[in-house]
Amino acid sequence: MNIARIVSCLDGYDPDALRVDKAREAIRSCLPRIEETEKVPIREALGRVLAQDIVPQIDVPAHDNSAMDGYAVRFADLEKPLREIGTALAGKPFAGKLGPGECVRIMTGAVMPEGADSVVIQEVVKKQGERIIVPPGQKKAQNVRYAGEDLRRGKAVLHPGQLVRPAELGLIASLGIGELRVKRRLKVAFFATGDELASIGAALKEGEVYDSNRYTLHGMLTRLGIVLMDMGVVRDRPEDLEKAFRKASGLADVVITTGGVSVGEADFVRQLMAKLGEVLFWKIAMRPGRPMAFGKIGNAFLFGLPGNPVAVMVTFYQFVRDALLYMAGREAAEVPLLKALAAENLRKVPGRTEYQRGIVFREGSEWKVRTTGQQGSGVLRSMSEANCFIVLEHERSSVTAGEPVSVQLFEGLA
Ligand code: AMP
Ligand code: MG
Repeated sequence: MNIARIVSCLDGYDPDALRVDKAREAIRSCLPRIEETEKVPIREALGRVLAQDIVPQIDVPAHDNSAMDGYAVRFADLEKPLREIGTALAGKPFAGKLGPGECVRIMTGAVMPEGADSVVIQEVVKKQGERIIVPPGQKKAQNVRYAGEDLRRGKAVLHPGQLVRPAELGLIASLGIGELRVKRRLKVAFFATGDELASIGAALKEGEVYDSNRYTLHGMLTRLGIVLMDMGVVRDRPEDLEKAFRKASGLADVVITTGGVSVGEADFVRQLMAKLGEVLFWKIAMRPGRPMAFGKIGNAFLFGLPGNPVAVMVTFYQFVRDALLYMAGREAAEVPLLKALAAENLRKVPGRTEYQRGIVFREGSEWKVRTTGQQGSGVLRSMSEANCFIVLEHERSSVTAGEPVSVQLFEGLA
């Protein structure tokens, strides 16, 4: 990383009120992409990033075949009754050849017999003994799937950087390929900081809260297909923090921490990061989220997220996710902003981007959105009740019910 490069990229911008888009751009500008790759059996490639072109060695389908159950015919012969000379089933081709006035009974997926050029569906034909009568109105080449119509031999269909989803698994399988090269997984080490944090299983003492950030991080990182190293809770003690940072940065590509990045008395994370590496501290013009650190210790990139549970999730989804997927080699992984109509008035101050927690719902033919209510950055329930962020853009002021707003859905088709 080159701090000078980031700083120049941010030239003219106030680090105490940095716009979300600028911060994202600055982070992106200095991230490397993972080079190492590995070969995995096809099923294990699900959720991984492809590191090779997939070039078909066969046409898919391999032969012209029927798209329907019916009769394979010569279109030019359809005026007169036809004579059925055999059957073609999927996997059991008809061995002969169609002569003038002949047809073959054919099932979906069966290879088109030699001489046939069209398929007439069985529902419309009339059978009179051996004679097959086809009504007028057929089209030449109808109901035929041609060899290579799905995938053509020699022409790359998938490229490095693509995420392997269920459709890609099927597509690769349809080519008979059982092993593929993917990027190695990104490794992320993370820990929570705070003297007030109790771990599950311990009784809460006065002034303590159970550490929840490591669990939201565990969930968010796991879903991105990342190798996790959960380093537990680290106390607000410079020696402990230094040890944790040194260890984490030696193990992982990226280190994520929560808490301790504001300027409170026990906020040593800032000091330690600055001592051990190149780190920038930003107050981002956003809500929730504001303070965030970004930088590098050794070879590991560092994200110092705020401590408040909602702020952790918002900064993760708005900055860290994009950065991790970029490093993991993924091409375009932006979550689209969609429009919904505000079902209620929304308070908003211009000059910062807000990520209110919303519930998108349908009313008649319209998609509308309301907030989950209380929007404090400690109210984690708001993230659980929500199914989207309502993204209120930097310049925008308060929204009146009925106006369109941008929403970012949490889930799609899984
Ligand atoms: P900090 O940024 O360290 O000042 O923390 C801000 C707020 O977030 C405080 O109320 C902390 O108690 C809370 N907090 C920090 N870390 C965690 C955590 N891991 N789990 C739950 N709450 C946390
Ligand atoms: Mg703290």
